[in-house]
Amino acid sequence: MKKGLILIPTVVFIIFVSHSFGRQSGGQPVEFQRISERLFQIIGGSGANGGAYIGDNGVLVIDSKMNKESIDQVLKGIDKLTDKPIKYLVNTHSDGDHINGNRYFPKTVIFIAHENCRKEFFNPGRSGAESEWKKPELAPFVPSLTFNDKMILYLGSKKVELWYFGVGHTTGDCVVFFPEGKTAFLGDQIFLTRAQLIHSYKGGNSFEHVKTLTKMLETIDAEKFCSGHSEIADRVTIEKHIEQMKQLQEKVKALIAEGKSLKEIQSGFEQNQARLIESIFNEIQRDI
Ligand SMILES: [Zn+2]
Repeated sequence: MKKGLILIPTVVFIIFVSHSFGRQSGGQPVEFQRISERLFQIIGGSGANGGAYIGDNGVLVIDSKMNKESIDQVLKGIDKLTDKPIKYLVNTHSDGDHINGNRYFPKTVIFIAHENCRKEFFNPGRSGAESEWKKPELAPFVPSLTFNDKMILYLGSKKVELWYFGVGHTTGDCVVFFPEGKTAFLGDQIFLTRAQLIHSYKGGNSFEHVKTLTKMLETIDAEKFCSGHSEIADRVTIEKHIEQMKQLQEKVKALIAEGKSLKEIQSGFEQNQARLIESIFNEIQRDI
């Protein structure tokens, strides 16, 4: 009897860390998910998904998870892939689940971020607490190289593009684009399985988020979009996300016009959308 077609997954999972070690932190073990020959998405551990790119003369890492245990696993994973040193670490934005692990990388790494992201490192947290990044011992792990609109890094013959398309989730979110594999890392500029996070206290804005993502799709010809907390997405998924955000904004606008309060509006949506609805509500109120 003929066997059915066996589908070979295009994405190969490589698990570097034993389960007994990895699961103790409460998170999944760190895994390197191969996207193309030299590019990996780093999932699991404590904190957000990140990435690693093996260049001709060094490694570029995207985001740094949250704790030493996760970064120990990331460093071990990179060691297994290459003996080239980690040259750059790009922070896609300033949230703790993407930057707190910076301090566990070698001090020789150059930390890169958008100029606004670097500023946000030093801003008080949501509760108003002072930023720990003001401590002198953490200074070597704060981005020391920043850009405004675009930066190109050459890791030997291959180039990596860092883009800024505007305000959205915060004021300092960048996109790390690998033209060779048409893959972009967006940080938290897209959430697919839960409500989009818009950090109003960091200057984030949902209406700008829509414009920023639209500009991104118009500017770079990426086909795969990796992000902090979702599965890898394609262009159609990003377009859908933009459309859904626009529809949500229109709904909230209409309810405000009917004279509804924030609480009344929130009660008509799912509970996990409450914070996003509040951001949209406040943004519309400010404009009226
Ligand atoms: Zn995140």
